[in-house]
Amino acid sequence: MALTVTIIGRPNVGKSTLFNRLVGKKLAIVDDTPGVTRDRREGKAKIADLKFNLVDTAGLEESFDKSIEGRMRRQTEVALKDADVAIMVIDAREGVTNLDEHFAQYLRKHQTPIILLANKCEKQAGIAGVAEAYRFGFGAPIPFSAEHGEGIGELYDALKEYEITADETIETFFDSGDEEYDEEVLKRPLQMAIVGRPNAGKSTLVNAFLGEDRMLTGPEAGITRDSIASDFNFNGRKVKLVDTAGLRRKRSISEKIEKLAAADSFRAIKYAQVVVLMLDMELGIEKQDLSIAGTVIDEGRGLVIVANKWDSVQDKSGTLKILKDRLETSLPQVRGVQIATASALKGKNLDGIMKCAFSAFDTWNIRITTAKLNNWLTYKTEKHPPPLAHGRRLKVRYMTQIKTRPPTFYLSVSKPDDMPESYLRYLAQGMREDFEMWGVPIRMNMRKNTNPYEHMRNKKATAKKG
Ligand code: GDP
Ligand code: GDP
Repeated sequence: MALTVTIIGRPNVGKSTLFNRLVGKKLAIVDDTPGVTRDRREGKAKIADLKFNLVDTAGLEESFDKSIEGRMRRQTEVALKDADVAIMVIDAREGVTNLDEHFAQYLRKHQTPIILLANKCEKQAGIAGVAEAYRFGFGAPIPFSAEHGEGIGELYDALKEYEITADETIETFFDSGDEEYDEEVLKRPLQMAIVGRPNAGKSTLVNAFLGEDRMLTGPEAGITRDSIASDFNFNGRKVKLVDTAGLRRKRSISEKIEKLAAADSFRAIKYAQVVVLMLDMELGIEKQDLSIAGTVIDEGRGLVIVANKWDSVQDKSGTLKILKDRLETSLPQVRGVQIATASALKGKNLDGIMKCAFSAFDTWNIRITTAKLNNWLTYKTEKHPPPLAHGRRLKVRYMTQIKTRPPTFYLSVSKPDDMPESYLRYLAQGMREDFEMWGVPIRMNMRKNTNPYEHMRNKKATAKKG
């Protein structure tokens, strides 16, 4: 899946120069019917091994509404339509202008990630302009010179991150490709699996949700049973129970083997978006429960814990406290996970379970703006700065969300290899708390350290180095 990158910015900052540098002179000009103003130029661009589609919107400046604001708005819309990532170019020598501010404002309203390029920076010129551009909230600007080919290595690094993202998206098989945290996504059914050890009460809960004994008392035996509908509605939203086949099959086996149960729950997790893990509170939480919870998060799914058979629990507050403590200490990645106490048998707090499930689902779909993230990041890194590595303080430059389902963030750091896990955990845990992302995996990617720039820009120099 090739990445589509678009170039955006006010007139004269160097967009066309950048386009020509990355695409070469053989341009594919689209929408060039005479009389119709060119919409945008597209070409196949390449930096080292990284190939992408590049879109230049420079032509838009001469057309459309008379007002410059109207033109910018239009340019932004066209540019961002199919873009995976946008490069906003500024002229660092001139510094940040009002027009740049306006562009930034439009861009912030869109979900497309932005790479900020401070152009015309050759020979250290325009460094003040670079610093100024930080305030856009698009992260650290890349000092660049389109004319002289400086900064291409950094641009490569920045784009490379998004290329990885494009591939990852395919892996999440229920993603249709380019989802956002939007109404459409939320209208789709929540795919929910119910897992847990044998006897936890899974079948009882499924039956309670479906309102009748549809699952176990279907009219026909065998395969047809598997196709019994397992959809229901909760507060106007659709829920699809996935992999109830595992529950059904179990019924025909007199001996419920633990191993089989584990295999079943693993399959269910793969097909679900949110997993409800049922605990048998007559027995309490056990190692196997923790390992299932860990798997849910590692697989990138949302998690809700149901403390079932709550009707049989005597010391309710004491039991809940022990359960919470156990989860906190044993599984840092699920800290703060939502727990619903319930009785599947008596139909108690089924609403509570579904509220937790939808809350996890919505968080799983969440998209946080880059501006918000970076304000937050500044606060977190000031409060607790990253550690030293080889005597120098590691820098966290900026972060941006590159994917939803589950929320995945890109963190630009000075030395990714030296960044300790513990600091990433500090940030991830901070996000959980500050953005209320409970029971949802939070993924942090750091920039790769590859720099193919040298050999590109100056083949001779590399040859000399050997
Ligand atoms: P666009 O209107 O944004 O497409 O900008 P152009 O690519 O047409 O460039 C505008 C002017 O800036 C031209 O005169 C370019 O030669 C010049 N320019 C572009 N990139 C650089 C650069 O890296 N350094 C300097 N000094 N000038 C540049
Ligand atoms: P599964 O193996 O996880 O599908 O568990 P089942 O749904 O077959 O339930 C196992 C046993 O626990 C059955 O005897 C249920 O009646 C009982 N059970 C299920 N939910 C509850 C509950 O909320 N409270 C109590 N006291 N018993 C329950």
